[in-house]
Amino acid sequence: MHKKLFIPGPVEVSPEVLQAMATPMVGHRMPEYAALHARVKGKLKKLLFTEGRVFLSTSSAFGVMEGAVRNLVKTRCANFCNGAFSDKWHDVTLRCGKEADAFKVEWGKPITPTLVDEALSSCKYDAITLIHNETSTGVLSPLPEIAEVMRKYPDVTFIVDTVSSMSAFKIPVDELGIDCCIFGVQKAFALPPGLAVFTASEKALEKCRTVEGRGYYFDFEEFAKNDEKDNTPSTPSISHIYALDCQLDRMFAEGLEARWARHEELANFVRKWVKDRGFGFFPDESCRSVTLTCAANTRNIDLALLKKEMGTRGFAFDDGYGKIKGKTFRIPHMGDMQMADLTEFLAAIGEILPSL
Ligand SMILES: *Cc1c(COP(=O)(O)O)cnc(C)c1O
Repeated sequence: MHKKLFIPGPVEVSPEVLQAMATPMVGHRMPEYAALHARVKGKLKKLLFTEGRVFLSTSSAFGVMEGAVRNLVKTRCANFCNGAFSDKWHDVTLRCGKEADAFKVEWGKPITPTLVDEALSSCKYDAITLIHNETSTGVLSPLPEIAEVMRKYPDVTFIVDTVSSMSAFKIPVDELGIDCCIFGVQKAFALPPGLAVFTASEKALEKCRTVEGRGYYFDFEEFAKNDEKDNTPSTPSISHIYALDCQLDRMFAEGLEARWARHEELANFVRKWVKDRGFGFFPDESCRSVTLTCAANTRNIDLALLKKEMGTRGFAFDDGYGKIKGKTFRIPHMGDMQMADLTEFLAAIGEILPSL
């Protein structure tokens, strides 16, 4: 039995998108591929509100997150950490042999513009990494306000992970001055995992040419050169790119405004459900994510048992991530999810709750 995915990534994939993955294969050096690549790139630029370069990487998001620090950190990186993915990014930066410092806030709290300003005022850093939506804790950091601070530091490369937020609301990449915006496709995009998208500003591309040790697979310069021919440095997952083409059409057919509004509506519905059932919230009200709700298990129920019971009813349930497993549970509301999917899922939890 297929368990319907209600975990914050990978998320449930629509049959139409799965069908697009089964499109007959073309060669990546054939004109058919270049046409597909150009088409997808054009649609992504529209979605990301960018006139800059958009690249497709056959990897999970962490491939490009590693690539970004290898390409764009020259002297020292400031990694802002408020959860499992951002903590990991700091670790990855160090493993790439880069000088880096972690600016950590407690899990459940956002990265603030003040913290970014304080860190950068030391003039020690030439790049920062920021996770817009920390999926492990359900915390959304204030990207526009942080972008405002970044304007004071034009020489600091602004690298942002929007893995679980891109397309769920407006993230105008150029207007925010993001030099490198990265996301995988298995979260808010609701595609099967295995492809990542990233942008690079002209400034970022110029800089990467002066950085040593970029390697090959994630060398931004290689991506830029191949992009001139609507191509990728090595063989991409063409099936994913067909699926992305299809999904972008579906996003524009829904309408971006409507898509953003749907996420807001689903988020509000889940938040009310969590409150009404007597659970708490892991993040403060001011920074709760619109793509997933991280509830605090204040009723101390047996989440492992709930997960098991949900499994027998055909739902994959998430009982928390990393060190907050068991103390929190996360309900995703992103991708292609509709209100009917959520009500079905929450009703199933509601039936099990009295027996826990
Ligand atoms: C899932 C996730 C990642 C890791 O993505 P992979 O595709 O597994 O590499 C990174 N950042 C955030 C915010 C995520 O939600």
